[in-house]
Amino acid sequence: MSQQAKKTAIQPTRADDYAEWYQQVVRAAELAENSPVRGCMVIKPWGYALWENIQRELDVMFKATGVRNAYFPLFIPKSFLEKEAEHVEGFAKECAIVTHHRLVHAPDGTLIPDPTAQLEEPLIVRPTSETIIGATFSKWIQSYRDLPLLINQWCNIVRWEMRTRLFLRTTEFLWQEGHTAHETESDARQKTEQMLGVYADFVERFLAMPVLRGRKSDSERFPGAVDTYAIEAMMGDRKALQSGTSHFLGQNFAKASDIGFLGREGVREFAWTTSWGMSTRLIGGIVMTHSDDNGLVLPPRIAPAHVVILPIFRGDDTRQRVLDYVNEVAAELRAQKYEGRDVLVEVDLRDVRGGEKQWEWVKKGVPIRLEIGPRDADNNAVTLNRRDRETSEKQTVSRGDLGAFVVAALGEIQQGCYDRALAYRKENTRAIGSKDEFIAFFTPKNAQKPEIHGGFAVSPWCGSPQCEAWAKDELKVTIRVIPFDALEDGGFTSCVVCGRPKAETAVFAKAY
Ligand SMILES: [Zn+2]
Repeated sequence: MSQQAKKTAIQPTRADDYAEWYQQVVRAAELAENSPVRGCMVIKPWGYALWENIQRELDVMFKATGVRNAYFPLFIPKSFLEKEAEHVEGFAKECAIVTHHRLVHAPDGTLIPDPTAQLEEPLIVRPTSETIIGATFSKWIQSYRDLPLLINQWCNIVRWEMRTRLFLRTTEFLWQEGHTAHETESDARQKTEQMLGVYADFVERFLAMPVLRGRKSDSERFPGAVDTYAIEAMMGDRKALQSGTSHFLGQNFAKASDIGFLGREGVREFAWTTSWGMSTRLIGGIVMTHSDDNGLVLPPRIAPAHVVILPIFRGDDTRQRVLDYVNEVAAELRAQKYEGRDVLVEVDLRDVRGGEKQWEWVKKGVPIRLEIGPRDADNNAVTLNRRDRETSEKQTVSRGDLGAFVVAALGEIQQGCYDRALAYRKENTRAIGSKDEFIAFFTPKNAQKPEIHGGFAVSPWCGSPQCEAWAKDELKVTIRVIPFDALEDGGFTSCVVCGRPKAETAVFAKAY
């Protein structure tokens, strides 16, 4: 272990073992833990508070576009899933299936499914809800007057995973899924793009994660969709995280689920549908975008607490004086507004040693820590530390200035998170036109720190699935998006893999 590694609160460091560092940050911040059920996670209060903040902000943004929330069943009849051929192919390999509705005691006393209680038709635990929502839409929609129908549901999803990682890939996860039906193709396409825009805006403004938006190649499309659009962010190990998707489903699901309506001309037509989703994966994205070797770093706009106050007193004689002062400071801070919301203040009164307490909050990523002892109370001041500065870098702020100081610092920390992430992405994005350079770029041993290698290659692509498959098989690299955003593409004209004329410029990367 190097000298420097010993000083960090998280072991190992990012450079030593990125995957293990991630697990340790999640554990040290008390975001989530593995559950007795393999592949499923327990989301702890600090992690769930992040999800609640994501939900609250996104929900407001959805509703501003006319979307309303509803709830559909957890179970989907197997026959529903079979209606759309590509769709069933896409999800068949990872389905949880309910076959019985009762348990009985076997002769040896153990519980077994009652053979007489077998379901006539097995039920699938939802891997996504297009089919069950489609069946409902077909009843709700009769005429063009019923359109557009704009629905969202917040729920859990099950996709059986063999290799899981907290937040990034779990058998059960939480998400939202939007489902809309429209009269015309252009209305549906517009909605697909609008929701991708909502996602990009949310992730950039609240989670401080810069994203690339674009279209997926055919092989990365949602099963059953005509077009899939995504936002992709670069993580601290330079891999991509797909952070949200929006699908234009054409009339595929409308035909499969019989979502028809009487049009303006009195002719029966099929609706045009969309779906779009974002999940608890985003929490993994926050961790891997902003955190450092001392643990989690939270952008203030998504943090469950903006400020934590750590009272310091040695004996009972100073205790009450410090606590009274702490309560006054906390109340003054809570009266402040940051980005239109009350400043969120935690006071940590636990009987834990000061140093240990301080490090716990460093690892939880709270943007600002205040230490308040008898001397601070005497001087009408506080000792303040920012999570984006060295832990030892403390400054004294007078009580009169504190509110404005904290609000300004939160804004700076939020902007700093975004700026650092954007600079990192730019540093590690390269226009690559030659196959040799492409291979070298994605070869771990060529990097100074093999755990952290590669990045985003902006490269010409002929459009053939074979070239895409080659990158995946040889280098574990996929096309993340065919970007909407203008990127420096080097002006290359022939496919980075086969040398034939380019059809598209694509962003290639390794991905979670
Ligand atoms: Zn090619």
